Amino acid sequence: MSREALDLDFAHAEAVLARYEGPGPRYTSYPTVPVWTEAYAWERFAADLADVGESPLSLYVHVPFCRSLCHFCACNRVITRDPALPERYLEETAREIGAIRDRMPCQPTATQVHLGGGTPTHLSPGQLRHLFGALVDAFPLQRGAELSIEVDPRVTREEQVDTLRELGFQRISMGVQDFDPRVQEAIHRVQPARETAQLVELSRRLGFESVNFDLIYGLPFQDENSFARTLDTVLAIQPERIALYSYAHVTWVAKQQRGFERHHLPDARTKLRVLWLAVCRFLAAGYVYIGMDHFARPEDELARAQRERSLRRNFMGYTTQAGVEVVGFGPSAISALRTSYAQNERELDAWEAALRDHGLATRRGHSLTQEDLRRRWIIECIMCQGELRADDYAARFHGNFAADYAPELRALEPLAADGLVEMDPNGTLRATALGRLLVRNLAMRFDAYLGEQQRVGTPRFSKAV
Ligand code: SF4
Repeated sequence: MSREALDLDFAHAEAVLARYEGPGPRYTSYPTVPVWTEAYAWERFAADLADVGESPLSLYVHVPFCRSLCHFCACNRVITRDPALPERYLEETAREIGAIRDRMPCQPTATQVHLGGGTPTHLSPGQLRHLFGALVDAFPLQRGAELSIEVDPRVTREEQVDTLRELGFQRISMGVQDFDPRVQEAIHRVQPARETAQLVELSRRLGFESVNFDLIYGLPFQDENSFARTLDTVLAIQPERIALYSYAHVTWVAKQQRGFERHHLPDARTKLRVLWLAVCRFLAAGYVYIGMDHFARPEDELARAQRERSLRRNFMGYTTQAGVEVVGFGPSAISALRTSYAQNERELDAWEAALRDHGLATRRGHSLTQEDLRRRWIIECIMCQGELRADDYAARFHGNFAADYAPELRALEPLAADGLVEMDPNGTLRATALGRLLVRNLAMRFDAYLGEQQRVGTPRFSKAV
């Protein structure tokens, strides 16, 4: 979205919002995780690993530990101050790395490493070295590999940042959420702006190329005025990338979120106003809207990938690593191979026990059909480019998009009438500025599994706004 998008008819957006604020997947995978089943167990993952090609891999490690619980959080995390747990975790992760490596047919290398969590900087400098050493011994790094990490500024110390830089990490992502003290208190995450700014300053001084901030809109007590002050602080610091997530009120996953219902949780209109305020401020400050909830400086690789139409989306968010197979380690980690997804056991004990039994800790997964692969590509085009070109579909799948997906295109007609999407007679579709903001709604029309999920009625997804 360019700066012309500032012309969005906001009154119209508010008028149609009620039709599009309902729950929907974020499409970091297709099919989405609730579709995956336990019929895909470790034996099938082992067979798929034996089929991994020679191309370099993207490696994700989930470090689940945190010092205290942020009340908005629906991630898989273990709140602990017990030093024995990370030690045990590192031993088991090394076992998992070896087991996965041994099941691959060739000498695999890595083009991307991402440490996520939880809080990876819950680990000491020595433990970070140990983990990274185990990874790169098994999966030697390609020249120029992208190394990134998520950190919590409240627990991250200079020695850790120093160590990460020494290991070659270039990208650092900081959980911020909101700088407003009242919001911070309500979400049980008090993090003074000064502390975050100092960590950014240190990271830049040590040579990190890119700093990302994670922000959340829709938290208790947020409104346009309070968030405007947060945006002032963010824009003064100028991170290279910004992720602005919609708060996911998913009490069936994160029971502690029920406490928020006593507070003032902003309604969908307020959330849309806060989101739009942030979009306008970021665009005016020169950031590029990457998609859904991500912004980047124009010179950033994500912005370049978007311009070159090579942007991709996986469960880590938007990525430049098109077509790269992802292998995940640690509890709840997800692997995304060429034709399958596999997710590890979520609980630490179950993950450890499964590794001891089989060397692999797969809890569930999904083998992609040809139809899944087509729809995944369509949904990725919409989520990443805000556009699907019928010619590209024909070149890739030798089919006629308008004919193959006639019911889906008919289902999009009301969205076209509401100004979310423009469609050509050959089926080519382009999200408008409003459609980019509510993009899940466009992608949902191509999700073959969603109808059944909605019929069963079990809550599975957060609201689109
Ligand atoms: S938001 Fe981050 S630091 Fe807070 S509990 Fe969740 S994973 Fe841990």
